[in-house]
Amino acid sequence: MHKIEHAVVIAGGGPTGLMLAGELALAGVDVAIVELRASQKLDGSRSRGLHSRTIEVLDQRGIADRFLAVGQAMQVQRFAGIPLDISDFPTRHNYGLALSQSHFERILATWVSELGVPIAREREVTGLAQGDTGVDIALSDGQSLGADYLVGCDGGRSVIRKAAGIEFPGWDPSTSWLIAEVEMDEEPEFGLRGGGGIGRADGGLVGIALIEQHLEHTSEPTLQDVSEALIALDGTDYGVNSPRWISRFTDMTRQAASYRNGRVLLAGDAAHVHPPQGGQGLNTGVQDAVNLGWKLAQVVSGTSPERLLDTYHAERHPVGARVLHNSMTQGALRSTDERTKALRDTMTELLSMDEPRKRFAAMMSGLDIHYDLGEGHPLLGRRMPDLDLVTARGPVRVFTLLHDAKPVLLNLGEPGGVDITPWSDRVRLVGAEYVGPWELPVLGAVTAPSVVLIRPDGYVAWVGDGTHGGLVDSLTTWFGSP
Ligand SMILES: Cc1cc2nc3c(=O)[nH]c(=O)nc-3n(C[C@H](O)[C@H](O)[C@H](O)COP(=O)(O)OP(=O)(O)OC[C@H]3O[C@@H](n4cnc5c(N)ncnc54)[C@H](O)[C@@H]3O)c2cc1C
Repeated sequence: MHKIEHAVVIAGGGPTGLMLAGELALAGVDVAIVELRASQKLDGSRSRGLHSRTIEVLDQRGIADRFLAVGQAMQVQRFAGIPLDISDFPTRHNYGLALSQSHFERILATWVSELGVPIAREREVTGLAQGDTGVDIALSDGQSLGADYLVGCDGGRSVIRKAAGIEFPGWDPSTSWLIAEVEMDEEPEFGLRGGGGIGRADGGLVGIALIEQHLEHTSEPTLQDVSEALIALDGTDYGVNSPRWISRFTDMTRQAASYRNGRVLLAGDAAHVHPPQGGQGLNTGVQDAVNLGWKLAQVVSGTSPERLLDTYHAERHPVGARVLHNSMTQGALRSTDERTKALRDTMTELLSMDEPRKRFAAMMSGLDIHYDLGEGHPLLGRRMPDLDLVTARGPVRVFTLLHDAKPVLLNLGEPGGVDITPWSDRVRLVGAEYVGPWELPVLGAVTAPSVVLIRPDGYVAWVGDGTHGGLVDSLTTWFGSP
């Protein structure tokens, strides 16, 4: 049988797979998605919104407005339910966006289709075999695909992770929640209880999220399970009927031991699962994709050696581990016994103080991410702020310079004072003026650099403060030999 070949195949077209596909397509890589679902339609409620750094990342590609037009900008950041305001943070997007995952996926899928990425739907990746030069990918319809690299963006139960033999250590679930939107003959008592709550949903429906009596389940949840959970809580099921959807999730917390095994990589929920407290899963997956996309593109095109891919695990595994850690803390704080309530009150008091609020809000919003790129200027390894620059061609925002997902060397010093001719085919040199303050979330004001090397994912790879020492090494490390 004729086998179709691609440079990269992505298993799973959820938020992470779509974002990665967009990043690769922007870099000119021949990429295809294999997706189980017939459409982007989601059964059940999942992510309810985007955090500030995710909005910034979308802004870096010029597509944030599509999401902002549909969602509602608001202060969404919470730690264990304790609100954290970021309206004083130094970012254009000093808020989060209330936007359901189904809208998010629909808008992202439109962008990916505009970029011409094929999605093979209603097919499942069932297995893989790695060789020295590529990966053979078996599909559920009996066909197979060939690729230089395969990325598993296939969710928490990832077939790719298992087939690649990557361990998934962590913590088994301690609690299972049933979530549903249903009709009821009688009005229930609305409010937070039962380890979750009962509230009003769209279309006159009732939304429920309740802890289940049992942890282990071998089948999908049913209306009978919803009825039993309500009876256990209130002694009645309020005549529950006609579910729009029923789903469940647990507080299982696990992380892939390695984000890469040879030519197979993992991103998103395939690499890390944790309870939804704090709303970080989708956001983390999208940012995994933006970290991986340009690196994989450079390796596939031969611009960079394979070892560039090691920086994906090195940078994103610690970020994922921190999300797991904070979601476990938040999980522990959800108990309603008096001792935990006292602990929550203490946390609430602490987080009302300016410094703790800033630190936790920056963590929850993703604005404090700091890749360890060594000692140096505080900008090194941190997100480049979206400054308003003035160039010879007129005013431009830093994020606008990143729309095509190419690296930028921003010269804010003496015009013509830096020469990167050997990299001119892959790194864009932009001379500009900037007169405002340099301010980073949590850290506050930092000294103004004269030259900044910005990676395609918007993180700073090198900072010049008068001399150009280390620039050649940094260009070579990140963007290949001249
Ligand atoms: C109740 C709940 C609330 C949540 N709230 C939030 C929130 O507020 N904020 C937040 O950021 N996150 C939240 N999350 C987490 C968020 O939903 C996930 O982190 C996110 O969906 C992960 O995206 P993904 O693309 O990595 O994986 P998934 O969304 O799981 O997508 C995986 C895709 O792969 C496909 N697939 C699976 N196996 C195969 C295969 N073998 N071959 C081909 N395709 C395959 C699936 O059909 C799916 O489309 C919540 C989750 C839950 C359960």
